[in-house]
Amino acid sequence: MVQPLKIGLLGLGTVGTSTAGILRSPQGRHPSLTDIEIAKVGVKTLDKRRAIEFPTGVLTTDLEGIVSDPNIDVIVELIGGLEPARSLILKAIANQKHVVTANKAVISRYGEEIYRAAEQANVYVLMEAAVGGGIPIIRPLQQTLSVNRIQTVLGIINGTTNYILTKMAAEGSDFSDVLTEAQELGYAEADPSADVDGYDAADKIAILATLAFGQQVNLEDVSCEGIRQVSAVDIQYAEQLGFEIKLLAIAQQDETGLQARVHPTLVPKDHPLASIDGVNNAILVEGDPIGQVMFYGPGAGGGATASAVVSDLMNLATMVHTSNLVNPLFKIPQHPSSRLVPTQELVTRFYARLICVDRPGVIGNLGTCFGKHDVSLESIVQIDFKNGLAEIVVVTHNVKEQKFREALAEIPQLEAIEQIEIPSVLRVLREK
Ligand code: NAP
Repeated sequence: MVQPLKIGLLGLGTVGTSTAGILRSPQGRHPSLTDIEIAKVGVKTLDKRRAIEFPTGVLTTDLEGIVSDPNIDVIVELIGGLEPARSLILKAIANQKHVVTANKAVISRYGEEIYRAAEQANVYVLMEAAVGGGIPIIRPLQQTLSVNRIQTVLGIINGTTNYILTKMAAEGSDFSDVLTEAQELGYAEADPSADVDGYDAADKIAILATLAFGQQVNLEDVSCEGIRQVSAVDIQYAEQLGFEIKLLAIAQQDETGLQARVHPTLVPKDHPLASIDGVNNAILVEGDPIGQVMFYGPGAGGGATASAVVSDLMNLATMVHTSNLVNPLFKIPQHPSSRLVPTQELVTRFYARLICVDRPGVIGNLGTCFGKHDVSLESIVQIDFKNGLAEIVVVTHNVKEQKFREALAEIPQLEAIEQIEIPSVLRVLREK
């Protein structure tokens, strides 16, 4: 008879409760779930009402005790945040325990340290739930897709911002109104910065880029812009020009090198990511020879995220029970950090909205200025006219970011341009 895999569950919140729920009701699921047993559950306070009851002595606030308990095989870290999560993971590894975590913040900052420690201790750290919630993306990148030369990983990997942008587009509402509504509905946190400023998506793309390109991508090298500056007017103009605005996380290997960035992006309406609406997530992977593969589904939520957590546990149970503990497919590549392409050198397309006095020669002057800086324009259109001011929208072809910024900086000095304002500059998904 196989010995059950004994787990110490750290955290019994949204994801922890759903994880315990799946393990407590194995009927109709994979048979090896019955080989997993919750030995201890660590929480902050014992006074809370819990959706799941445990036998006396299982629930504890002594998390240090759990990670050093010799009867526990695997630590499932679901407390979130940086500390004490990082220290508890490292202590569990030092005590020869495997770790399953959903903590993208810890993995994106301390992944290298954690995976080196795990390598030395010959244990596994699995993290399917850290990116994309219930969507399988970590294991496909580590295993199934890893024989391809990956060119691009493009993702809508933050449900809150995708919900806000979808609502803004559907209702023509402003960012701040939709954010307030999302907070009331529980789709956005009281402090929304991690989501709306792009930091959550940056954590996740740093992890995906490390896996996809086999090189450590450091979080501090990921350039990050959020959606606060996206206005209802830009969404409307983008729509007229055939685009949706999405917060994209992009990791790309091209002629300039490796890039990883997060920013609002105009996506052509016929692109597969343009139709991803609401809180859903999607990740498009492009590689050679496979072409495009898209992963789509619920990027958060207790049940969806717990599905990914328990799938990691099941893999560990299988490996432990077959004594197959040298499975190289679960190791993270340990190549040194690579220098990412600086933003100024990126090649992408741009959308800019300009407002200036409506005078003859304005469009011609702008066109000449962009041409002088090697910026090739796909379109330049006067979209609106109010109180003597013209509103002009420019969309470029692929261009080096530095060249585009140089052209923008020169516009106020042009002869025909008066009272210039440039309220929006957004990137457009680059052409092949
Ligand atoms: P949560 O609902 O806030 O639950 C956190 C749990 O950890 C609670 O049970 C809390 O104890 C416990 N805890 C927190 N700090 C602790 C400490 N210092 N000592 C002991 N216990 C502590 O969090 P969650 O939403 O389940 O998220 C857990 C992890 O999953 C995070 O890393 C998050 O990023 C990740 N994740 C979440 C989702 C999602 O949809 N929620 C999706 C993907 C990934 P008490 O119950 O006693 O307060």
